[in-house]
Amino acid sequence: MSSNFPLSHEELEALTKKFPTPFYIYDEKAIREYLRYFHKAFSIFPEFREYFAVKACPNPYILKILAEEGCGADCSSLPELMLSKMVGLKGEFVMFTSNETPAEEYQYAVAEGDIINLDDITHIDFLKESLGKLPETICFRYNPGQAKHGCNSIIGSPEEAKYGCTREQLIEAYKTCKDAGVKRFGLHTMVASNELNPDFFIDTAKLVFDLAVELKEKSGVSISFVDLGGGIGIPYKPGQKPVDLEYVAKGIHKLYEETIVPAGLDPMRICFECGRPITGPYGWLVTRAIHEKHIYREYIGTDSCMADLMRPGMYGAYHEVTVSGKENAPKDHVYDVVGSLCENCDKFAVQRELPEINRGDLIIVHDAGAHGRAMGFNYNGKLRAGELLLRSDGSVKQIRRRETIDDLFATLDLQGVASFE
Ligand SMILES: *Cc1c(COP(=O)(O)O)cnc(C)c1O
Repeated sequence: MSSNFPLSHEELEALTKKFPTPFYIYDEKAIREYLRYFHKAFSIFPEFREYFAVKACPNPYILKILAEEGCGADCSSLPELMLSKMVGLKGEFVMFTSNETPAEEYQYAVAEGDIINLDDITHIDFLKESLGKLPETICFRYNPGQAKHGCNSIIGSPEEAKYGCTREQLIEAYKTCKDAGVKRFGLHTMVASNELNPDFFIDTAKLVFDLAVELKEKSGVSISFVDLGGGIGIPYKPGQKPVDLEYVAKGIHKLYEETIVPAGLDPMRICFECGRPITGPYGWLVTRAIHEKHIYREYIGTDSCMADLMRPGMYGAYHEVTVSGKENAPKDHVYDVVGSLCENCDKFAVQRELPEINRGDLIIVHDAGAHGRAMGFNYNGKLRAGELLLRSDGSVKQIRRRETIDDLFATLDLQGVASFE
């Protein structure tokens, strides 16, 4: 079940006088509370770090809050590295988990001391060419393919994923790096996406811990940190439950005692790079019903569209929708709640039971705080919504303004057009 929207109907109506819909709003207090719970659960390890996946919510105000709570940043592009640096995150606090990376991006990351997480064995030479030498610390991304290594739960189809190295490649890759003078090593994998089964993460840790032990034997390197990736899901649908992080941490800790400690790899830092559970449930898209339409179905047209939130259109993803002020009204209507894009998949909710919606009602799309605004686009000349932050003290700050038509046309040389024949 998604978390409660933090403003009353009156407060939200008042807010829309100052900031017209559509907009995103994030709840600082709830984000901080979740992170404290996350960090506490994993405090049973000698060292732990959550690197927030910047792509989920690339706003420096949000990153600053996360940094204050002790998070690092997981980046995969130069602008993400730059955003992180803006809020003081660099060096050991930045994991550069990129793929198909240009040389300039490696150069920037290494100059900041960020941790380079290589996606492939051939990137060792590429990195050496880009930098002149290898950095002191290197991490590699593991793709377990079909190998399940005694895991209970099913791990998607990593053999179809473009990411990471095979086990055999890793044994060779760490040896090569060690011989080339690399001093510190990390091991990374990410094999889940929006997964709600807590055992999945324990099984992933087993896979990675076993490999860390094997790498010590076969490549002669001691892994200093393992990064278990992101992929912790959130309860988008009614009836779903959030992942119990204490259970996950205890399960991983047991494996740590059983495999990492006897192998002499303790203390080894445990890392995650989650985006979705950190900001997802604590961000909402607020839009207003501006049209209603009665044809073969009942439609509610909003002043937003999938350019602001493409998950439903792209993946058929479910997002809880509520109507401000009608939280307790009977859900005795069935609607498609739609946006204005010229694409029929532009629907925030399909055949959804909702209270009666009138023109002017404020519609709240839940669990939009991760992979929401960030995935927005400008197709159809749509201007993306801005972002507001509900501060812990109850005040509201605009942390990104809405796009303007000038923004949209900024990459065009409009004067050139006038004289173009
Ligand atoms: C997208 C991504 C994440 C974050 O995934 P969430 O589902 O938001 O937790 C972490 N690491 C990598 C490498 C990713 O591509």
